Amino acid sequence: MTETLARAPHAADDTRITICDPRSGELVGTLTPADADTIDDACERARSAFGSWSRTAPAARGEALAAAASVLEDHADELATLTQRETGKPFDDARGGVLAGVGTLRQYAELGPLHQGSRLAGDPSAVDYSIPEPRGVVAVITPWNDPVAIACGLIGAAVVTGNAVVHKPSERCPHVGERLGELLSPAFPPDVLRTLTGGGETGAALVSRPQVAMIAHVGSTATGERIARAAALTGAYVIRENGGNDPLIVDAGVDPTWAAQQAALGSFANSGQICTSVERIYVHDDVADAFVDALCAEAREWTSNGALGPLVDERMRDEVHRQLTESVNLGARVLVGGTIPEGPGSAYPATVVVDCTAVMPVFSEETFGPIASVQRVTSFDDAIAAASNDRYGLAATVLTPSLEHASRSAAELPVGTVKVNAVFGGAPGGSAEPRGASGSGFGFGPKLLDEMTRLKVVHMGTAEVAS
Ligand code: NAD
Repeated sequence: MTETLARAPHAADDTRITICDPRSGELVGTLTPADADTIDDACERARSAFGSWSRTAPAARGEALAAAASVLEDHADELATLTQRETGKPFDDARGGVLAGVGTLRQYAELGPLHQGSRLAGDPSAVDYSIPEPRGVVAVITPWNDPVAIACGLIGAAVVTGNAVVHKPSERCPHVGERLGELLSPAFPPDVLRTLTGGGETGAALVSRPQVAMIAHVGSTATGERIARAAALTGAYVIRENGGNDPLIVDAGVDPTWAAQQAALGSFANSGQICTSVERIYVHDDVADAFVDALCAEAREWTSNGALGPLVDERMRDEVHRQLTESVNLGARVLVGGTIPEGPGSAYPATVVVDCTAVMPVFSEETFGPIASVQRVTSFDDAIAAASNDRYGLAATVLTPSLEHASRSAAELPVGTVKVNAVFGGAPGGSAEPRGASGSGFGFGPKLLDEMTRLKVVHMGTAEVAS
């Protein structure tokens, strides 16, 4: 377990998965991906378990989920340590992700039994109603960037509504996924929750299985599109929470230092490896000089104070650096950062790049790294137009003192979530639906319970009784 590899790949060649610590390059472990028989077996067992689990009283399903949440809470430090070793996420952030998962499981344990259909107003002599029914076997396919919280949301909502789950965690943190399954599954009857280890080929094999009634994918847009095509052949229902290329508009009149703090948080938190990271910054000319100066100071501070973890692996770092280099070749200017540091692991500095345009990769592609990419604009109208001109539609943030501009942002930006005057945050109970290349369906919140079920309408008339 202390062997150091020359490079630090998270290699998944579908014969062996090798995981190295992104901080040091040290080997964490190797795993063998599930083979075809194991995938078939997991799907078949889940389908068998589904029958009686779907008929279990929702309150009992909620109790089981609450019990699973408590087990996870008891093992928060262990899972956070494992997450840090496999993904490089700082320990406190990793622990926060595990506790977010615990909270989500508890939320669905409460909401699940309350999830209901409705009474319908038909003929007074008849009974008409609609009821939600579980779909069957749900393939839950998750990424590495917040592995426990994301998996818990999808697993919790699926299980509490009476589905059986086959979970395929990311090949970049398979030990986290495997351990999560070991901790959660004993709370449910056998085979209600199964975990499969493997990379893209394992995921592709899973989603092609006829037993799978629904696929819930959180991950990249390219994968989401592949899954949607595969599901078109099997008829499985799909929800996709995919990539983002979120804009941040910095309007005239805001405090540039505060705006720079917001931009830095949005760009550098989790080293930029969040689906709703700030990816494109449009700053009004009136505040641009002071904003960029303050953003550069923020970037230096984030790199030097230890707040920035490494990128998940060298493959990711190479991709982030490629996007930056190609953008520079097209005329962008790096003011801070932008160089690969010496030493083991996959660290990358907080970077500020200006003079960006829509054709540059840092603006046109999702950049999963700590890069704050800036373009100056001369009006709010131009900012809204540029921010809207993108194939993704996950979220957007606007920093503005103007109520009119805030309202226009909410109305005009073609994204699932609009945030005004805060890059992160939101009330519990929100369910957002991504647009465009960012996916489809509700991946979290109360509406995820609707996604995990199908509505059946029932009409009960009165029989004529034989005389
Ligand atoms: P990814 O799509 O490469 O991998 C995610 C999962 O899909 C993994 O388990 C992987 O093995 C599996 N997979 C890969 N190919 C597959 C296939 N052909 N069929 C079935 N499964 C397959 O994504 P990633 O790199 O792990 O995660 C980063 C991406 O996830 C970013 O684009 C990020 O924006 C996105 N993300 C989105 C959200 C959201 O809520 N919108 C949240 C977190 C991450």
